[in-house]
Amino acid sequence: MQSSSDPSIPVLIVGGGLAGLSAALFLAWRGVSVVLVEKHAGSSLHPRAIGFTTRTLELFRAVAISEHVPETPLGHGRPRRIQVESLAGKWFSETDWNPGQSRGAERAVPARPAQGYSPCGGAAIAQDKLEPILRERAIALGADVRMNTELRSFEQHSDAVVATLRQRDGREYTLRAQYVIAADGHASPIREALGIPRGGHGVLQVVRSVLFRAELEQYLESGISQFQIEQPDLKGMLTTYRDGRWLLMFSDDQERDEATLRAKVAQAIGRSDVGFELITSGRWVLSALIAERFSSGRVFLTGDAAHTLPPARGGYGANTGIEDSFNLAWKLAAVLSGVSEPALLDSYDAERRPIAWLRHGQIFARPDYAAWATEAEKNVPILDDDAMELGQLYRSQAVIGAGDALPPALRPEQWAGQPGTRAPHVWLPHGETRVSTIDLLQRDWTLVAADQRWREAAARVGGQLGVELTFLQAGADLRAALSIGSAGASLVRPDGYVAWRARELPSEPLEELCASLARVAHARAPRIRELA
Ligand SMILES: Cc1cc2nc3c(=O)[nH]c(=O)nc-3n(C[C@H](O)[C@H](O)[C@H](O)COP(=O)(O)OP(=O)(O)OC[C@H]3O[C@@H](n4cnc5c(N)ncnc54)[C@H](O)[C@@H]3O)c2cc1C
Repeated sequence: MQSSSDPSIPVLIVGGGLAGLSAALFLAWRGVSVVLVEKHAGSSLHPRAIGFTTRTLELFRAVAISEHVPETPLGHGRPRRIQVESLAGKWFSETDWNPGQSRGAERAVPARPAQGYSPCGGAAIAQDKLEPILRERAIALGADVRMNTELRSFEQHSDAVVATLRQRDGREYTLRAQYVIAADGHASPIREALGIPRGGHGVLQVVRSVLFRAELEQYLESGISQFQIEQPDLKGMLTTYRDGRWLLMFSDDQERDEATLRAKVAQAIGRSDVGFELITSGRWVLSALIAERFSSGRVFLTGDAAHTLPPARGGYGANTGIEDSFNLAWKLAAVLSGVSEPALLDSYDAERRPIAWLRHGQIFARPDYAAWATEAEKNVPILDDDAMELGQLYRSQAVIGAGDALPPALRPEQWAGQPGTRAPHVWLPHGETRVSTIDLLQRDWTLVAADQRWREAAARVGGQLGVELTFLQAGADLRAALSIGSAGASLVRPDGYVAWRARELPSEPLEELCASLARVAHARAPRIRELA
C-alpha cells in the first residue's frame, strides 16, 4: 500500500482532544505544517475538564487565544470541596486539597513576590467550549485539521512514519510523516501498537456520571464548586461546568435507566421544586498510569496517551498534556527547520516523564486520594501548589547546570532563575505600558543580560550556529529574578525555560556562550572554532 509518492508532511497528530489540538496549535504557531486527524466529528457531548491552570493560560497567552478563554483566579486557589447531604440539605465540613487549608493554613503560605508569579490567572471553561477555540486558532495558523478521520495503522521507517487513514465515508489513504504525535487518549492504540507498557498505581475505579442542566447558581455563592454527596443510598460528587450544566459523578459503575438518573439528580439537589434537563451520561475509568517511554523512534506520546492521572484539584490531567505539547512543539520545530539535531527530541521524554511521576506522587500524597494510597505514597511530602505548577525542574541534555541534588519543584522566587526551571515572570517597562517576561521569552532562544558585550556575543553566536538568538536587555529587577550580576547572562529556551546561566562574566564569554548554546540546542552546525 505504501509508495514513495504518498503525500509527505512534517508532523501528523493523531487525536483531536486537548493535547492533540494544543500540539497542532503550538506547532502551527511555530510555522510547522501539521495534519491532525480525529476520528469523531467534534467534541464530546460530555465534557470532562473544566479547570485550567495559570501555566496553561501562559501558553495560551503565547499563541494569542487568552482573550477567548476568560480567566478566573483559579490558578491562585484550587477548587473548594465540601461534604454535603445534598446541595439544598445540610453542608458538613470542607475537605482540603492541601491539609489544613480550610482552617486558614493558607496564611502560613509564604508571601508571593509583589509582582505575583504570572501575568495570568487560571480558567474555568468546559472542555467542549475550549476545544473549538484551540481548533479554530490552529486552523487559522495553517494546521490541516481532518475530523471524521481515523488512524487505522502505521509503519515506522528510518526516515518517516507511514500512516493509513480512513475517513468516515470509507475512503482510505496513506500519509508519510516525518514525525507522529500520538495524542490518542488513555487507551492510545498507537502506544499499544508500539508495545510501550505503563507503570503507576493502575486502575482505581470505574464510575458513571450524568450531565444535566439546571439553575442552581445560588449554591455557588460561597465559592465552593464541588459537593461530595453523602447519603446512605447516594454517594458521589456534584460539580458544575459554570454554564448551567452540572455533573453528578456516582462512585460506582452501576448502569441506571433514565427514571433512576432523574431520581438521583433530584436526591443530590435535595429539592423537588427545581426543574432540570438530563443531557447525557458517561462511564469513566479512573486510573493512574504512566508510559515507560514517551517516545519510540519517530512517534511521541502526549497527554493521556503518555499519562493518565485521575481528576485532581491540582489540574494534573489535561493541563499536563497541554504542557507536554508545548515542550515537544519547539523541539520538533527546531529539528524540522534544520537548526537542531534530532537528539534534541530525546529531551522530551527526559523532561516530561519525571513531571508525570511527580504529579502521580502528589495525587496519592493528598487527602482526596488517601483511600487508594499505599503507606509509601502517603509519606510523599506534599509540595506547594505554586511550586508544582510554576516551578518544576527539567533535567536533560537541553539544560546545563540542573544537578541531581536539586529538588523536583520549588516556587519561582526560590529557584531565582535556576537552569531547568521556567524563567520567572517580571513586569518590564514597554513604552507607555508594561510587558511580562512571559510574553518575551516563549518564542525564540533569548540571551538575557545587561552588559553590551553579551549583545554582541549573542549576535555572533546565533549567526555562527544558525540559531535565532534574541537579546533581551535586563534591568536590575530582571537580573535579580534570574540571579545574574551586572555582567552575567541567562540563556532562555524557546519554551521559556532557563537553559544555562553565567552569574558573572566568564573569562571567555563568547566561547562559553557558543559552547553552551551548541550543547543545549543540539545545534546542527556548531562551528565553534571559527569564532576565535
Ligand atoms: C470527569 C473528569 C474531569 C476532569 N477534569 C479535569 C480538569 O478539570 N482539569 C484537567 O486538567 N483535567 C481534567 N480531567 C482529565 C482530562 O479530561 C484529560 O486528561 C484530557 O482530556 C486528556 O486529553 P487528551 O487530548 O490527551 O485525550 P482525549 O481527550 O482522550 O483525546 C484523544 C482523542 O483521540 C481520538 N482518537 C483516538 N484514537 C484515534 C485514532 N486511531 N484516530 C483518530 N483519532 C483517534 C479520540 O477520539 C479523542 O478525541 C478530567 C477527567 C475526567 C474523567
